[in-house]
Formats: sequence, structure tokens, C-alpha cells
Amino acid sequence: MKAEILCVGTEILLGDIVNTNAQYIAKKLAELGIDVYYQSVVGDNPKRLEEAFRIAFSRSDIVITTGGLGPTKDDLTKEIAAKYFGKELVLNEKELSKIEEYFNKSNRKMSENNIKQAYLPDGSIIISNQNGTAPGCIIESDSNIAILLPGPPREMKPMFCDIVIPYLSKYQYGMLFSKVLRVVGIGESSAEDIIKDIINKQTNPTIAPYAKDSEVIFRITAKAKSEQEAKKLIEPVEKEVRERLGDNIYGTGETSLEDVVAKLLIEKNLTIATAESCTGGMIASKLINSPGISSVFMEGAITYSNEAKMKRLGVKRETLEKYGAVSSQTAAEMAEGIAKAAGTCVGISTTGIAGPGGGTEEKPVGLVYMGLYINGQVKTKNMIISGNRQNVRMRATVKLLDWLRREIINMK
Ligand code: ATP
Repeated sequence: MKAEILCVGTEILLGDIVNTNAQYIAKKLAELGIDVYYQSVVGDNPKRLEEAFRIAFSRSDIVITTGGLGPTKDDLTKEIAAKYFGKELVLNEKELSKIEEYFNKSNRKMSENNIKQAYLPDGSIIISNQNGTAPGCIIESDSNIAILLPGPPREMKPMFCDIVIPYLSKYQYGMLFSKVLRVVGIGESSAEDIIKDIINKQTNPTIAPYAKDSEVIFRITAKAKSEQEAKKLIEPVEKEVRERLGDNIYGTGETSLEDVVAKLLIEKNLTIATAESCTGGMIASKLINSPGISSVFMEGAITYSNEAKMKRLGVKRETLEKYGAVSSQTAAEMAEGIAKAAGTCVGISTTGIAGPGGGTEEKPVGLVYMGLYINGQVKTKNMIISGNRQNVRMRATVKLLDWLRREIINMK
């Protein structure tokens, strides 16, 4: 069984609203193991809507629509679907009294237009709407099924869960289960290259890579009869991927890099303080996202000016004059300075040129120096990060957190 999602509404076509209904339904159908090869959007236009139904049914068995079930003249989904299936719209007294009751409860007067919503295709399965006035319905023929749902997500979602999922479960031949591996420290193409042969030889599970905020995510998805069976299929593939990518994999599922770093700091009881220039507090803010961090995070300073670097962190004037604020010497003194001032085991620092201005041939935009004081020693790193100001700051934050993660993992 192939299903297709058809969202109705000129607002979506114009970009006024985001099509979250399609995303929601697609995800649910994937969980059910029902294939979806197409999604489309059509405006509130009868001719084009009819055409959209015709095209959708030429390639799919089930078409699920959202939107266009309202009381006004341009809400036409039900009318066009009934016409496509050769069904009459008949007044459903039970649904009409529900709509009347809905208005009574909210102390509003029902308009004549709302009666239109109680007309449903003859012989269809009715999907009651507990959060609005438009009922949905399922129209069946020998070979096709149309499932019509209202547009507002807060009405559509419970109807989908309560009625549509149990209805569709008879067409499900399995389920999809995914395991997500999160990779940091290598780019998407390098990460993909390392496991290319594994990706290519897999059919079940499949491995899908994608890049997100300086990370690479590998989603391993298995199709099976049960979650347990899917996990069994995923296990050996995950093992192979882990052997190749090693420490570049920092976590699984919804874990974030900052959570992993925070957990390591807490586990090893390593107190930390941050001194940030170009990242402007992003690193501290990320770490503070993690619950429990208060036991190790002592303080964070945003030391943007040279004066602040000298006054708060004890960076030497000569260092700034000789090497500049964006230099490994300054980064080192910043990291050590904040750790000593805060009395922590770890001190980290960033200093760089986030752009768009301020770059020179010798020190271009995107050049970032980082300092890490740990175990009584200070180390520095530098890199050139491409992209706009926000990107440079965000990537520098990820790079530093990843560096700290690797240092802690490899600590004796
Ligand atoms: P109503 O009974 O409220 O008129 P309807 O079934 O006619 O519902 P529409 O008029 O098409 O639905 O849409 C109503 C509202 O629902 C939109 O203004 C929008 O806020 C939301 N909506 C509609 N379609 C979508 C969609 N695909 N994704 C997210 N939200 C949507």
C-alpha cells in the first residue's frame, strides 16, 4: 500500500504558513511502515484540486488530505473528493448536533454556513472532531481510499492518532525503527567516505547521512515486524560504523554535544570556567543548557576588549602588543587566566575574527584561536572557519566543546 499526502490551502502555497501537517503525517506513516513516495500542496481551487486527486490516485492507493473542510465556499476538499468517488454528500444528523453542541458550549451562535460541515460523502467512515467543527471522513472504493482531515493541527493530530492510525494499521506490513548516531569533528563528506561501502551495501537497514550545525548525523533505519527485530538488524551495522568512526561518534539519539561534555565534566569532577571573546558567551550558554552543570561550572567571562582580557584574566599587555588579541599566546593566557582566577581545573578560551570586517591578509575573517587549560597545562589550537559571523561563532563553539570532550576522554 502506498500513501500520498495532499495538503490543501492557498496559505501554504504562498508561504504564509509552514506545512507542518505533512511533516507530522509523513512521520506517523513512516512509523507505521506505510510507504509515502509523494507529498503535494494545492490551493483552494476546484479544478486544480480535482486534478491533484486524479494525479495522486494515479500513483498511490491512499490519499490523505488536510485542510479545506471549513464552512466557507472556498473549502472544497470534501466536495471534490465526493465527486471523484461518485458519492453524494448527505446530511449527517449526528454530526450536525455535535457541531451545534460545540457552538453552544463555547457560547457562540452557529452560522448557517456550518451546516455545510455536517454533509458527508454517502457511506464514508466519519472521523469526529473533538476540538473543532469540521468532521473528517474516510471514503473507500475497491481500489482507493481518501482520508480527509481538517487543516488546524490541534484538530487534525488527535483525529489522526485516534481514528486514522488504528484504521491504517491493517495495511501496515511492518514498522520502521531508527537509530541516530551523532558525529562531530569531521565533515559530512569525509564521514560519508569512511563508511561509504557500508552505506552502499545496505538495503535493510539503510544508512542516511545528513549535516546539521557542524555535526554529521547518520540515521540507521530498519524495516521489520517489531522494534526488537529492527534493533537486531541495526546492531551489527551500528557496530561496523562505530569501529570505523570511533571517537568521532559522540552520542546517539537526541543527545547534544554539550550534554555529553557536561556529563564528562561531572563524572570526572572537573570544575570549569570560560573566557570568551569572539564566541561571546555561546560556550557558557551551551554548557548551562545541561541540567546538573552547576556542580562543575564556576564562572564565565565575556572578555571582548583588551582591557577586559588584562583586567579579568591577567593577559599581559606585552602579549597583546606583540602578538595581538587574536593569537595563540593570548588564547593561552586567557584560558590559564580564567582557570586561576576562578580556581577551576579547566579553563577554556576563544579569541578570533568573526567578521564581516576586521580581517587582514595575515589574520583573515574566520580565524579563531582557542585555549584549553587542563591538568595544569595549557594548549592552543587555531582554525579558519568559513561562513558568516553567526556561523563562525557557532562552529567555534562546537569545535571547542568537541576538543574538550576528546581531551577528557583521553585523560589518564
Ligand atoms: P477550518 O474548519 O478551521 O476552516 P479547514 O479544514 O478548512 O479548517 P484550512 O482553512 O485549510 O482548514 O486551514 C485552517 C488553518 O489550519 C490554517 O489557517 C492554518 O493555521 C492551519 N493549517 C492548515 N493547513 C495546514 C498545514 N498543512 N500545516 C499546518 N497548519 C495548517
